[in-house]
Amino acid sequence: MNHFVIAGARVFDGETSLGIVDVEVADGKIAGVGERPEGADLVDGSGATLLPGLIDAHTHTDAEALRQALTFGVTTEFDMLSMPQQMIPLRRKAAASNDLADVRSPSIGLTPAGGHPQQLRKGEGDPPWPTAASREEVAAFVEDRIAEGADYLKVLVEDGRLFGSAPLPRLAPELVAATVRESHRRGKMVLAHAMTVETAEQVVDAGVDGLTHLFFDRPHTAEVVGKIAAADTFVIPTLTVIASITGEPAGRRLAEDRRVRPKLAAEWRENLSGAMATIPREHFGYALETLSALKEAGVDVLAGTDAAHLGAPGMAHGASLHDELRLLTTAGFTPTEALRAATSVPARRFGLADRGRIKPGLRADLVLVAGDPTVTIGDTLSIRRVWRNGS
Ligand SMILES: [Zn+2]
Repeated sequence: MNHFVIAGARVFDGETSLGIVDVEVADGKIAGVGERPEGADLVDGSGATLLPGLIDAHTHTDAEALRQALTFGVTTEFDMLSMPQQMIPLRRKAAASNDLADVRSPSIGLTPAGGHPQQLRKGEGDPPWPTAASREEVAAFVEDRIAEGADYLKVLVEDGRLFGSAPLPRLAPELVAATVRESHRRGKMVLAHAMTVETAEQVVDAGVDGLTHLFFDRPHTAEVVGKIAAADTFVIPTLTVIASITGEPAGRRLAEDRRVRPKLAAEWRENLSGAMATIPREHFGYALETLSALKEAGVDVLAGTDAAHLGAPGMAHGASLHDELRLLTTAGFTPTEALRAATSVPARRFGLADRGRIKPGLRADLVLVAGDPTVTIGDTLSIRRVWRNGS
């Protein structure tokens, strides 16, 4: 069994800063906060800050990605669409392997035949995608995903134009509403990809639980922000992928960081340095303004990157979440608010009561970083040590 105390570090518990307190870990769990038992091994935390393991609330993942994510202190990824035949064994493996980040997934998402994101996955060797074109088919679709082990359902309402595609078939609002009804009846959340003001309003009206991106086709309206707040829909902004789509050079700067470079293979550095750049830069400004309006309205915001496979440029698993936190601060989040968005808020909204906080009884998913990211958000990258399940 492992039993140790992280001593002398500042502690951010997922909600607030506790000052310098000792954190005791035993058998993979947080055993105590603020106590130092006799005889326990000490890990020197002086000059550092202890954080809950970080959660990336929007990825598309595999075993290598989860391994890389963990080296950056990301101890849980919420996958947002993967092939079921890959995800089921991966979930089992991740649950049992302390050298991989843990993962949750909706399995495949609901999109029309030939719909987004299939145009971006050419060459990935995907089997035919299940879909649904009527309410009855939606019921079967939801049932199949749950049988595959989906933790939540995903719908995509996207015609592909923001990604530079010719218009693709877009999921009809009544099919989104049917997915919400069927999923909620079975106790599962529904998350929606909607990147325009119009489609975001549609999916919020249909009752989805969360948006997997900000919308950024044009400046937001007070109406859409008011609807999201009134419905208590959460938002995963994914400024990282929006930076890529709009050609902001955020990934390139991150790839050059001396704390990032040695941890990424050359092909991932190259991937991170790239950008999709399919629409003008000004749209990135719309996203930042929308995010600060959502924050003002009290909407729950979860940090997520959309890190995916090689060939989806501008992102890298693990590394990009740190840049997402920095980008949140450029939209008016305090460093503490940004840290909550990657710890306690995603754990609460996804019902994972065993993580996201530093509290006795929770999983010892922890990151020790030099400096104080509650003051300087970039300090999250100065990683000294990562623990998953206390090891
Ligand atoms: Zn995605």
